[in-house]
Amino acid sequence: MSDQATALLRVESLQVHYGAVQALKGVSLHVNAGEVVTIIGGNGAGKSTLMKAISGLEPAAGGSIAFLGQDITRMPGHLRVPLGIAQSPEGRQVFADQTVHDNLLLGAYHRKDGAAAIAADIERQFATFPRLSERRGQMAGTMSGGEQQMLAIARALMARPQLLLLDEPSLGLAPLIVKEIFAIVRQLKQQGVTILLVEQMANQALVVADRAYVLETGRFTLEGSAADLRRDPKVRAAYLGAHA
Ligand code: ATP
Repeated sequence: MSDQATALLRVESLQVHYGAVQALKGVSLHVNAGEVVTIIGGNGAGKSTLMKAISGLEPAAGGSIAFLGQDITRMPGHLRVPLGIAQSPEGRQVFADQTVHDNLLLGAYHRKDGAAAIAADIERQFATFPRLSERRGQMAGTMSGGEQQMLAIARALMARPQLLLLDEPSLGLAPLIVKEIFAIVRQLKQQGVTILLVEQMANQALVVADRAYVLETGRFTLEGSAADLRRDPKVRAAYLGAHA
């Protein structure tokens, strides 16, 4: 209970519809400050829809979303960024014809704390993501998929979010790059960044996360500590490629 009272993000009975398609049928979750929480689920389960509803890209048809105790259910997405919610979207979506440096600068568009603080934060991203540092003057569209994924995460971090939404950071990437991305997620966790991570790579996600929810066709079917879910026979059979 106290757990829920102090939640950074609290989603209650959230519903999202696309016309007649009910993508989310009433999901409830919370994320506490400093936690890494993961949503695992197969194709079409509603994972991206949940992320978009939290960042304000898809409207809620029912239920509520609260951030830091404030009801943001009907708040437009661009107002949620300054409040502290930043999303690294599925499919990366970097500004292809802008340099790495300028993409990072755009991530800080709403900040009012001055050019020096923003420049210092860009250097901080380059320290976390050395591959980006080597390519700071390169057009983002010419980078590899893995590098663009790192840029999308770094750009979201430039907003100085209190909650980082990571939508399938491993999507379409080679195993070695996936390992690198998850090492960065672990590093961010150690720095105290609160993360909601959506993943099909359930094994990696459950290793890095504190807690997890399993989403199936618009509903949560299981939730618990990531360690418990990794041992759960149903999760092992359906998402970890193991025979229970
Ligand atoms: P994946 O891992 O394949 O990306 P997902 O879990 O992220 O899947 P969503 O993209 O959230 O799933 O989709 C949930 C459901 O909503 C699916 O049935 C999908 O076809 C449908 N859907 C998603 N976006 C739209 C849209 N813009 N218009 C109509 N239906 C949509």
